[in-house]
Amino acid sequence: MAAKPSLTMHGSISAVLGTVGHDVAGLFEIMEWAEEEIEAARRRHAVDSDTLWHSFTLLVPRHELMSTEFVYRSHAVEILDRVAAGQDTRPATAAEVCCVLAEASQVTPLNSVAAGLYCRMWQRAFPDQPSFWDSHDAHEVLEGARIDELEATTRRKAASPDRTLGEIVCAGRHHGTPVDCTYAPGHGHLDLAS
Ligand SMILES: [Zn+2]
Repeated sequence: MAAKPSLTMHGSISAVLGTVGHDVAGLFEIMEWAEEEIEAARRRHAVDSDTLWHSFTLLVPRHELMSTEFVYRSHAVEILDRVAAGQDTRPATAAEVCCVLAEASQVTPLNSVAAGLYCRMWQRAFPDQPSFWDSHDAHEVLEGARIDELEATTRRKAASPDRTLGEIVCAGRHHGTPVDCTYAPGHGHLDLAS
């Protein structure tokens, strides 16, 4: 019988996610990260540039662990890429699932499937961060299908039901600068001389 993969170092994960020894950002700083990620997304998806500019409200952090920069930025990228792809922006992002599991792991040890989901979401959300598991592949081999199920359930349960764009109204100015925005009333007839 294969050894059951174990999850260790809960404490270190909490530390990385911002409870200990990390700069905790204020809302103003988080808004700057949001602006930067919107600009980066507009470069990645030029055709959806106007929609992305108006996606700022989708990027309001819903979790205190989002005050850690790499967590927030990963979250924002996933939401903005969904906007560009025309996908549902409500389900929890991989970063949000990590936040949920980080909190759950403070209360009770994660079972093997939940630990496997944590590994998977961590690697997807934060590929540049050190990984805390040496048994990721074992988890996926042994529990892959159950991790798939738990991922779908968790993304849905931890969703933000009101995180949708709705109707975009644009006054034809972005940060005070006249723009020929798709959502502006005079789109296509911009008169910069006026
Ligand atoms: Zn606009």
